[in-house]
Amino acid sequence: PAALVWLRRDLRLADHAALSAALDDFPKVHLAFVFDRDILDPLPGQEEAGPLAETPAAAQASGDPGRVAGAMRRDRRVEFIWRSLAELDARLRELGGGLHVLHGRPAEAIPALAARLGVAAVYANHDYEPAAVARDEAVRAALARDGRELRTFKDQAVFERGEVLTGQGKPFSVFTPYRNAWMKRLVDADLAERPVRLGGRLAPPGSAGTGEGGRTASPPALGLLPLESLGFSVTNLSELGIEPGESGARRALADFADRIGRYRDTRDYPAVRGPSYLSVHLRFGTLSIRAAARLALQTMRGDPAAAEGASTWLNELIWRDFYFHILHHHPQVVDHAFRPEYDAIRWVDGAEGDALFEAWREGRTGYPIVDAAIMQIRRSGYMHNRLRMIVASFLVKDLGIDWRRGERWFAEQLNDYDLAANNGGWQWAASTGCDAQPWFRIFNPVTQSQKFDPQGKFIRRYLPQLAGLSEEAIHAPWMASPAELERAGLRLGVDYPMPIVDHAVARETTLKRFAAARST
Ligand code: FAD
Repeated sequence: PAALVWLRRDLRLADHAALSAALDDFPKVHLAFVFDRDILDPLPGQEEAGPLAETPAAAQASGDPGRVAGAMRRDRRVEFIWRSLAELDARLRELGGGLHVLHGRPAEAIPALAARLGVAAVYANHDYEPAAVARDEAVRAALARDGRELRTFKDQAVFERGEVLTGQGKPFSVFTPYRNAWMKRLVDADLAERPVRLGGRLAPPGSAGTGEGGRTASPPALGLLPLESLGFSVTNLSELGIEPGESGARRALADFADRIGRYRDTRDYPAVRGPSYLSVHLRFGTLSIRAAARLALQTMRGDPAAAEGASTWLNELIWRDFYFHILHHHPQVVDHAFRPEYDAIRWVDGAEGDALFEAWREGRTGYPIVDAAIMQIRRSGYMHNRLRMIVASFLVKDLGIDWRRGERWFAEQLNDYDLAANNGGWQWAASTGCDAQPWFRIFNPVTQSQKFDPQGKFIRRYLPQLAGLSEEAIHAPWMASPAELERAGLRLGVDYPMPIVDHAVARETTLKRFAAARST
């Protein structure tokens, strides 16, 4: 008898809860991944993800159906997953197995594969997104019709669902008490590695038992399912130095281990290599959350000089659990403000809203820190946390645009896009969330820039047309003297836009907009 382990956002072989449990329960295991059409088909492709002969938009414009069919989208996440799977498949083949990679809809593909392999049960890790919960229920029901079970495990979070609750048994909606309860509950076993010993335990390719369909159960090599067959082409992931797979995660974690002690002092400065850049690995599970939290805890215990940095970083990992907790207990946040009164806010929409939103997402607001941050996400799919807060606040509180539009655009662009954290981050910045920035607190994009990019290093990197400006002028070029502009070779309104809104005026409008919603 064998089990099938269905990988989703846990693309690794080490410290893996579902795989570990399957090996406890069965002598042999198969592993599978499904490229889910319901997720891939609607993806529009990411901005500036690399050179390509044919974009879907250009093909569409040509009106030639052949070109439309051949056009590829570029999405770093699809390439990241594909390359992580290639590494995993190679590793499994060394061990005498292989990965089953399918392209379809899980509710059909998983039960069909389970039947073909003749497995007794399917193992997977919990996912807290409402669409994933619905998907898993559909798979569970389809498997049950054939008398098979879907067994699922906690893996993505340290604590999940109802594990951390208030004294009254209610979910938390404020971070600090949640964090305190989380820390109080934590024992070493929560972070213990979930052992995975695969030697001799993989159903071998080519000689595996035939399933109910009577066909061979050996997985085809991943090369038979090229990235292009999914409708996607290679991106600039390699150029960016983002290494997928468990091996990439291991190197990124080791690199951060040398810097973790400085995290608290460096994490807010986007020009500095302060944060861990592990988010994409945590998103796709090429790194286990337990391994990340173990690094933090061991540093806190064993290295007094680095303890503060490690403890600040652990807090961020707890924020990650916190937003899973919020999404699990309040799934309505996907489309609504956590605080219902803010669903009544009258956002700027229509043609004016569209024009402002376009300027924001194209980096044409005239506020250098905002535009440089937008260039970072467009070119790399990453944006520094401080900048995510600044650009989100700018869209909502300077431009008056509905936070959900920004959230959706981030969802397309971010390599580390995670519904829980992205929704949480946007609702924090928009003041509509749980434990959010107070509604009357409005970031000033110029002072934020002066404080967190004091020499304008980050701005210069992404907006080279501003590179000649002095440290004083670079945060607000429209305030610079004509002599300074001339010296820098900058023609405002030509090389770089004038600000699209006046922050002081926008601030007053926003205060009124929020006050009106609060009084309805
Ligand atoms: P580090 O500073 O090294 O943090 C370590 C890890 O902690 C991160 O990898 C992440 O898993 C977690 N983490 C850190 N901050 C947060 C946070 N505020 N909430 C939840 N988890 C956190 N994070 C995402 O992973 N996916 C998103 O889609 C996402 N969208 C965001 C949108 C907005 C508007 C804002 C303000 C924040 C968002 N964040 C998101 C949180 C945070 O910006 C990123 O996790 C972080 O910038 C990733 O870089 P890092 O791995 O170098 O972070």
